[in-house]
Amino acid sequence: MSTSFFGKYIVPEAATLRNTDSYRTIPPIDDGAAREVLYGGTRLLNLASNNYLGLSSHPELIEAATKAATRHGCSSGASRLITGNFALAETLEAELATFKHQEAALVTSSGYAANLAVFTALADRHTVVFSDRLNHASIIDGVLLSGARLVRYRHLDMGHLERLLAREALVDKKIIVTDSVFSMDGDVAPLARLVELGKAHGALIVVDEAHAMGVLGRGRGLTAALGLSEDVDVHVGTLSKALGSLGGYVAGRVETIELLRNRGRSFIFSTALPPAVLGASLAALRHIKSNPGLGARLMRLSKQIRDHLIGLGFDTMGSTTQIIPVSCGRNRVALHAQALLRAEGLLVAAVRPPTVPQGTARLRLSLRADLTDDDLKRIRLGFSRLRVTFFP
Ligand SMILES: *Cc1c(COP(=O)(O)O)cnc(C)c1O
Repeated sequence: MSTSFFGKYIVPEAATLRNTDSYRTIPPIDDGAAREVLYGGTRLLNLASNNYLGLSSHPELIEAATKAATRHGCSSGASRLITGNFALAETLEAELATFKHQEAALVTSSGYAANLAVFTALADRHTVVFSDRLNHASIIDGVLLSGARLVRYRHLDMGHLERLLAREALVDKKIIVTDSVFSMDGDVAPLARLVELGKAHGALIVVDEAHAMGVLGRGRGLTAALGLSEDVDVHVGTLSKALGSLGGYVAGRVETIELLRNRGRSFIFSTALPPAVLGASLAALRHIKSNPGLGARLMRLSKQIRDHLIGLGFDTMGSTTQIIPVSCGRNRVALHAQALLRAEGLLVAAVRPPTVPQGTARLRLSLRADLTDDDLKRIRLGFSRLRVTFFP
């Protein structure tokens, strides 16, 4: 009987979990994408969301979402392949493809779903996927679902990748996949070398730009910033972070997108995004196109804050972007530092295993382009005070 499973396994496991410092709860936060959030009634500066450009509350997005909902209702009704199509989705895909310098694009219900679609469509049990050890969980899940063999190389280590590629020389179907900006470290992939290796070994190259889209390369991502748009085969990204909306996308050659439409399980077997979301995404994309300097402003203020933290003696773990980790090591230290910063009016994420490797708990600041000079002052002051506790 299911009750015995509940009593025997679920209750004790939940009880054990509750007593560990990796136990997770949903924080008492309201309005989590805003520049300032309410945390149990206190106003905190929000350095924890991925709303990097503050677009989620931009009037252009709200108006587009409202218009689309008024005209088309609140649901898409079914999978795109059945009845869930809207002209808005096709316009968004065409504009995304152009923006990413690609022939075609496909929009999915999330960035998570985009990676599931990529690997279930393009990989199978005869494929070997070479994946940076710190790639996002959705990449790992996509590979697992595809039945391909996962080979993980050390973070950013192109020498290691090269040796692993050579070891699998007899395998015909090879894919190399990397995040462009790493979500918990804020460092960037060595894409030029990765592209060279991919070409030399006949591997398909997949780059996930979730944290770079809207930010780097005048909003087009790291591939565009490095002039590698044409050298990367499959471009994955999200509309849920800097674009301030919801959804994922894949961009590439026409035939690649055709396979995704036919075989991407998360695309086929899930209801399409609703009109309001499509409207907001399209407005966000157009906003970024006509304001290409937003990302550069974010990079400038990120550098100021990072330099300040390094000057105080904090280890920012190789970050070069708007995502700035502060190394803490043990979970308890990260949670303590987070609480101290909260008292300084700052909301910062404390990231712990299994999101990051054991023993590498950290604070994670994600900065945003709409921070004011006063906000930046508050951040600097908060960390200066934290330092006294960290390095007494
Ligand atoms: C956040 C993230 C995703 C998932 O995107 P969602 O739209 O939030 O589902 C995929 N890949 C990477 C690298 C991410 O950081």
